[in-house]
Amino acid sequence: MGKIIGIDLGTTNSLAAVWEEGKSCLIPNSFGEYLTPSVVSLGEEGIVYVGKTAKERLISHPDRSVSLFKRFMGTDKTYKIGGKKYHPEELSAFVLRRLKEDAERYLGEPIEEAVISVPAYFNDMARKATKNAGELAGLKVERIINEPSAAALACRGQAQEEDETFLVFDFGGGTLDVSLVDCFDNIIEIIAVSGDNRLGGSDFDEEIARQFCKENDLDFDSLSPQRRGVILDSACRAKCVLSEKKDVTMQVTDGEFRGQMELNNKKLIEISMPLFQRMSVPVKKVVNDGKKDMLEVSKTVLVGGSCKMPAVKQYLRHLLSECRILAMNPDYMVALGAGTYAGIKERKEDIKDLLLTDICPFTLGTGIFNERDAKHLLMSAIIERNSVLPCSRTERFQTVKDYQKNVSVNVYQGEEYYAANNIHLGTIMMGVPLAPKGKETITVCYTYDINGILIVDVTVDSTGEKTRQVITTGAGSISPEEMEKRVKELEKMKLSPAGQESNQMILAWGERLFAQTTGMIREEVGKRLDYFQHLLYVEQDVYKVEKFKSGIKKFFQNVENYLDEAGISWEPDDVDSWYQEEGEEEEETQEECDIWYEGHLTH
Ligand code: ADP
Ligand code: MG
Repeated sequence: MGKIIGIDLGTTNSLAAVWEEGKSCLIPNSFGEYLTPSVVSLGEEGIVYVGKTAKERLISHPDRSVSLFKRFMGTDKTYKIGGKKYHPEELSAFVLRRLKEDAERYLGEPIEEAVISVPAYFNDMARKATKNAGELAGLKVERIINEPSAAALACRGQAQEEDETFLVFDFGGGTLDVSLVDCFDNIIEIIAVSGDNRLGGSDFDEEIARQFCKENDLDFDSLSPQRRGVILDSACRAKCVLSEKKDVTMQVTDGEFRGQMELNNKKLIEISMPLFQRMSVPVKKVVNDGKKDMLEVSKTVLVGGSCKMPAVKQYLRHLLSECRILAMNPDYMVALGAGTYAGIKERKEDIKDLLLTDICPFTLGTGIFNERDAKHLLMSAIIERNSVLPCSRTERFQTVKDYQKNVSVNVYQGEEYYAANNIHLGTIMMGVPLAPKGKETITVCYTYDINGILIVDVTVDSTGEKTRQVITTGAGSISPEEMEKRVKELEKMKLSPAGQESNQMILAWGERLFAQTTGMIREEVGKRLDYFQHLLYVEQDVYKVEKFKSGIKKFFQNVENYLDEAGISWEPDDVDSWYQEEGEEEEETQEECDIWYEGHLTH
């Protein structure tokens, strides 16, 4: 069997690794570097540039060069370059082909198979697009692995350490992924994942750029795209300097315009405080979802370029005060883990018994009839988030109208109370025999495999008729623009009519808790929410509403207390209590790094 390589196909940078002589080793590209920028540029004569050269051409030939296309994997977005249209998966295929060729040259043999990592939040469509990209590049991709799981594997793949539970904090260019990992014997179990797929390094760039505009009498929102690009770029560079130096002068020259701003880490924290606040949310959520206490978490491993920010490290050190923070090699962890997984797949003697169990990062469910408001279906979970993969779950549903002809099973992914606020993945329509409501039933079975591919089986119980659908259509994919639009629409909806404020608050509170919890607690929250809405909108009985209100508030408060029990409820507003200038900072736990540096990094 030929060698299998592991690939971290990143939004910003991509890299590859291979299992050799008992460890995962990074593969250098033709520049002798490990990171290949995920940028593609098409030359006039049909030449495709990938990586460093393409990144340069991003500035010199902006109309023939593209980056950040990973964000649109699995959507219908196309990029027009030189009169031809390209899908994100085709552009990714160029990057993969480059990595494949570099690996072949370095290893001296043809490479036909790869393990590719994807963000945990990637939906079905995006995972399929990634597999397609591999195939387009001439690579068989039998296994897609979640990035946080790969990072976890990299932490365990080598040393035979003691049993432990740890956090992986992967903070990249546009997203934050947090996972809770349990390790015992040779098993690495991902027990919970959470994240914020709208929070990353580029948000800091924007905050810096906005502050720069404020100090230089510019209005960020009305800048031309070009000038905004220049300022953002300069903001990003200033941010990166701050991981090496105490302060930096950000300077921008663009045509007639000249501007500058002084920046240090403390100022950076002050202008981006809301971003720090958001960082703690997924940490809290995974610990709760994993039913752990923060005291049981032995360490937090930092992954991703944004973890290089000293402010981020210090913030985490404060947030997780009892826990060791390991900032070993944030750029390489995911690729090293993918390489380790490639070793497991090759059944290499020194690693073949290592077992990685992964979970479904989001809830998969269906929309069910809402008696109060037939237009707004409710989400009924079939596979709950954090279920161990592969998994298969069955639920039975009944007809809701007399003599209805068809039933439609709408497949949704997400944690929201109303089905429509989740991502719609597909619909299966089936005819049912005519009967009074509630008499006919269907059985719905969801099967989610280790690559995160969903199969839905629907059976009409009385006739035994079956339909199977592998969720593949593009119909369910949602573009970032659509997502943006939806978020905006939801924000508008927050304006509730005066006089109903406290009832609306309870509803909103319940919906949030519904999204934050799982299992029986979620069921109980849902039941109360249902009944409260029933009183408000169906019975419209003011007396009963008031009577029920104190009970439901008490219940929600108990759930809240339960969620807080993990002990992370710290607010980052008081900078002075946690941020110190460099030098005053405690020493990093450098000894841990040796395991990783040894052998991998030869340049
Ligand atoms: P992704 O996984 O999304 O491709 P990476 O993990 O490569 O992203 O991280 C990219 C992000 O890290 C970018 O926002 C970049 O600005 C940021 N970054 C890289 N190096 C540094 C640094 N030295 N200091 C601060 N931020 C950095
Ligand atoms: Mg990454």
